[in-house]
Amino acid sequence: MKAAEFSTTILTWPRAFYISFYRGRLDGLTKKVGVTGRYGTRYGASLRKQIKKAEVTQHAKYTCTFCAKNTVKRTAVGIWQCKACKKTIAGGAYVVSTPAAAATRSTLRRLREIAEV
Ligand SMILES: [Zn+2]
Repeated sequence: MKAAEFSTTILTWPRAFYISFYRGRLDGLTKKVGVTGRYGTRYGASLRKQIKKAEVTQHAKYTCTFCAKNTVKRTAVGIWQCKACKKTIAGGAYVVSTPAAAATRSTLRRLREIAEV
């Protein structure tokens, strides 16, 4: 991604995200709906609830495992990048680490320890 392209993305979509969040808040809706306030009453309550979970985790900042700063953000589906050290991490679609990834990591470590002995 080019530098200019990157800064435009940073400037445009989180603002739209924030505005929609704020609008929901003005309507007194966010107690429950949060960021999905922009969907109004459409698509059904269960779907909006699922979307809320994904949208909240996908826009959150995560701690970098390389530099320990709270600067890891999602750049695309499954792609996460640390703003501080510029490292790119392959992760889950909406969260940095999924339960499956954590399980794989621990299994690999266990097997490696067995192999070393
Ligand atoms: Zn980092």
